[in-house]
Amino acid sequence: MGIAEDRIKQYEKGNCEQDKVFYQAMEEVIYSIAPLLESDERYKQNSILDRLVVPDRIFKFKVVWMDDNQNIQVNTGYRVQFNNSLGPYKGGLRFHPSVNEGILKFLGFEQILKNALTGLPIGGGKGGSDFDPKGKSDFEVMKFCSAFMTELHKYIGPRIDIPAGDIGVGAREIGYLFGEYKKITSSYEGVLTGKPFMFGGSLMRPEATGYGTVYFTEKMLEIEGKESLEGKVCTVSGAGNVALHAIEKLQQIGAIPVSCTDSRGTIYDSRGVDLCLLKELKLEKRASLKEYVKAHPEAKYIPVEDYPEGAHAVWDIPCYAAFPCATQNELNDIDAQNLIVNGCISVSEGANMPSTPKAINDFLSHKICFAPAKAANSGGVAVSEFEMSQNASMSKWGFEEVDDKLKVIMQQVCTRVALTAKDYGVEGNYVDGANIAGFKRVADAMIAEGI
Ligand code: NDP
Repeated sequence: MGIAEDRIKQYEKGNCEQDKVFYQAMEEVIYSIAPLLESDERYKQNSILDRLVVPDRIFKFKVVWMDDNQNIQVNTGYRVQFNNSLGPYKGGLRFHPSVNEGILKFLGFEQILKNALTGLPIGGGKGGSDFDPKGKSDFEVMKFCSAFMTELHKYIGPRIDIPAGDIGVGAREIGYLFGEYKKITSSYEGVLTGKPFMFGGSLMRPEATGYGTVYFTEKMLEIEGKESLEGKVCTVSGAGNVALHAIEKLQQIGAIPVSCTDSRGTIYDSRGVDLCLLKELKLEKRASLKEYVKAHPEAKYIPVEDYPEGAHAVWDIPCYAAFPCATQNELNDIDAQNLIVNGCISVSEGANMPSTPKAINDFLSHKICFAPAKAANSGGVAVSEFEMSQNASMSKWGFEEVDDKLKVIMQQVCTRVALTAKDYGVEGNYVDGANIAGFKRVADAMIAEGI
């Protein structure tokens, strides 16, 4: 039995709780690429699958820092360097109490195929810590970031591994991390992406993932012969970087995003969400969404605990298109049924793996246009690669230039995925299309490199 098969057996038996999400991601890819493995023996002969599901290396380290009350705090930090066949390891850092090795392996594995799909020269990695930035002062976040980088700097570099942001890691955290890296190494180089614009960040990096998901969806709807998003009601989950910019782009193209969520509740504003207020609450005040209804009493706030267990309020709102942009497994089969019954025709994953396998099966069997994360949210890493290019050539690109390039990349990714699905006999299945196209690009590079 191969390593991949063995891992899937463990997953199916319910073993290895921590690695559950990693095996979930792996299983989807293994099923999708079966036609490719059947049609080309080289992949089996070279044991590509077994080699791909094991990270090149994982660093795990202690992070010690002092809080504002002079108490010493201890967290765990990680960096998973998964695969660098197509380029240096590239993938975000997540700061959230739920972070463990299994979650980072799942995210790193997805990142390999996502980065491959962009057609850019970047490998896959991921990292982070169980540190929770919520409720911490700026000074505490800075102390933590400095301590984290004291260890992380040993493993990264502009030609080795270039981390970026993810949940809990935005421009503030990247700024502190970059500052500490510079202090330790005396080197001013493009070792992180998502940096503030004033010291090497790319314009449009904050917007890239959310905007990119909408560009992808527009192209997918065009290919599938559906009406565009203009004038249509859309639901969005999350209220972080990806969600806010998906909402922004939806509004720019004339769609009507009516929802957002955070870990405590959902806002439903049927006239369309007030993005200015949302940005003020989430980016400036770091407040709960509950505050939204103080300014807009006609909107509804639905706390998580007030909604029947097993379903999520946001996916019970009638919509034309849905955009899960918060976190993994936030949309289950009950939610999928609610969306389908309410007339939703398109689901695009802005977050990583937000839909459960059962939900995805429901979407595919009901012919819902389903854009999987590794294709639909690849705009973020694409603009991260643009940031690396700008840093390497000491240049700055304008907002429109980056936006135009992003749009082209997202349309290319979408077309590549759709054509691959067609070539392998699963037309309209963007999950299989994305997995096959991404896998093929990495696998061909691995074969060319030898063992
Ligand atoms: P942020 O930290 O900016 O925002 C995350 C949002 O999701 C917050 O509103 C948060 O609510 C909510 N959330 C987090 N965990 C949970 C949970 N367990 N249950 C319910 N809600 C939750 O992260 P991003 O917007 O950057 O990332 C969102 C998703 O997009 C993630 O899956 C990430 O991996 C993916 N992604 C991000 C990219 C990027 O460029 N940033 C690139 C590609 C993918 P609260 O504030 O209450 O915790």
